[in-house]
Amino acid sequence: MAKTTHIAVIPSPGFSHLVPITEFSKRLVQQHPNFHLTFIIPSLGPPPNNSKAYLETLPSNIDSIFLPAINKEDLPKAEYPGILIQLTITHSLPSIQKVLKSLTSKAPLSALVADVFAFQTLAFAKELNSLSFIYFPGSAMALSLFLYMPKLDQEVSGEYKDLTKPIQIPGCVPLLGQDLPAPAQDRSSDAYKSFLERSKGLSTADGVLINTFSEMESGTIRALEEDENCNINFYPVGPITQKGSTIKENGSECLRWLDNQPPNSVLYVSFGSGGTLSQDQVNELALGLELSGQKFLWVSRAPSNSVSAAYLDTENDDPLQFLPSGFLDRTKEQGLVVPSWAPQVQVLSHSSVGGFLSHCGWNSILESMQEGVPLITWPLFAEQRMNAVMLTDGLKVALRPKVNEDGIVEKKEIAKVIKSLMEGVEGKGIRIRMKDLKDSAANALKEDGSSTQTMSKLASKWENFGGI
Ligand code: UDP
Repeated sequence: MAKTTHIAVIPSPGFSHLVPITEFSKRLVQQHPNFHLTFIIPSLGPPPNNSKAYLETLPSNIDSIFLPAINKEDLPKAEYPGILIQLTITHSLPSIQKVLKSLTSKAPLSALVADVFAFQTLAFAKELNSLSFIYFPGSAMALSLFLYMPKLDQEVSGEYKDLTKPIQIPGCVPLLGQDLPAPAQDRSSDAYKSFLERSKGLSTADGVLINTFSEMESGTIRALEEDENCNINFYPVGPITQKGSTIKENGSECLRWLDNQPPNSVLYVSFGSGGTLSQDQVNELALGLELSGQKFLWVSRAPSNSVSAAYLDTENDDPLQFLPSGFLDRTKEQGLVVPSWAPQVQVLSHSSVGGFLSHCGWNSILESMQEGVPLITWPLFAEQRMNAVMLTDGLKVALRPKVNEDGIVEKKEIAKVIKSLMEGVEGKGIRIRMKDLKDSAANALKEDGSSTQTMSKLASKWENFGGI
């Protein structure tokens, strides 16, 4: 019998960080049954229901160990969710180290695979003579920016958003300073300091797994591999996405509603697991959807002035009460509004869905791509703005509505872009290019596909590893 290869996996709190690393782990043990994985799970307060339900899907050769939850009240108040995630990991480091020591006392650990927010745990892997890997749940372009950040920090004085020329990261589409990730928008903030620390910490890894595939980001991946100042090995293993999301109360209602709509007619509107809009923006979006005359399925949240208000929080308010007066009645034949959550993967795979207005979280992008659904970009936080640039300027599979001087996307602009995507000439070209990407994504995951081969290469490296 083949000897067992032991791997420790450290996800970080937040549904969209947990899902891809979990799916990667499931794929790994499915393709390599002689692997045994242990998930070491930090959490901020009790794990939310969607994360708990997800972890229940782990197969028997993946164990999970829940660390003592970090209490939100013990952490400083932070506007940006990345700070809370980072602090949760930092506060969990002693318990992570304890678990790792106890695991290695039973059997040697070939590798530690940590989410990017858990980069500090790479040092433990080195102490324990294991290989250290980062699982990067974003694009190769976002990773390139991450690794480029210390250089940018040295070369640029003042705020990036004030730069007049676009930033040229090797192998990537040019990027305006205002489209850099949210923490880089204020260089004096704690979020920026922590972002920079993460980007420096990443370079100590033996390898970085990226949730992308070579056919989509070949130039960017090549530039990463050819960088002479970087000794990291890169492993594009994606697209790795949720398999059939957990259907909640309103899940079957939206699928039933979609069953009764014409093919490709519905625009799906969603801002990820926790994105929120201001009250003014909710009003404009509602009126813009109505004005477009197109069918829509909108996953709506109660408004907030913080764009990531619901990311690590439970939602209590009924979002429907914040819609413009008479809107639900006037649009009852045109669309459906569901509160807070929809079974996104099933929605996107439904034949009635013809477009996705998305906040451009990386998981949402990959899920849309795997179903060949073209996008309207509506970035809110994290690295979503640069994802939007990649989709519109690079891959040309999305349209990006204009934001006015007050930071609002107005109803007329919304209606115009929706019509253009759903029934315009521009939309046609975008749809064709998205269909091509769908095919190459499927190819990457076939038995002889690029990502499957990369995964096998990685697995044999881990299998043959006999300690540093
Ligand atoms: N999601 C879902 N239903 C929803 C909203 C989100 O299933 O109503 C899932 C979605 O399919 C994706 C994840 O939550 O897998 C969101 O991840 P993404 O990276 O797009 O955005 P984030 O939540 O990090 O902002």
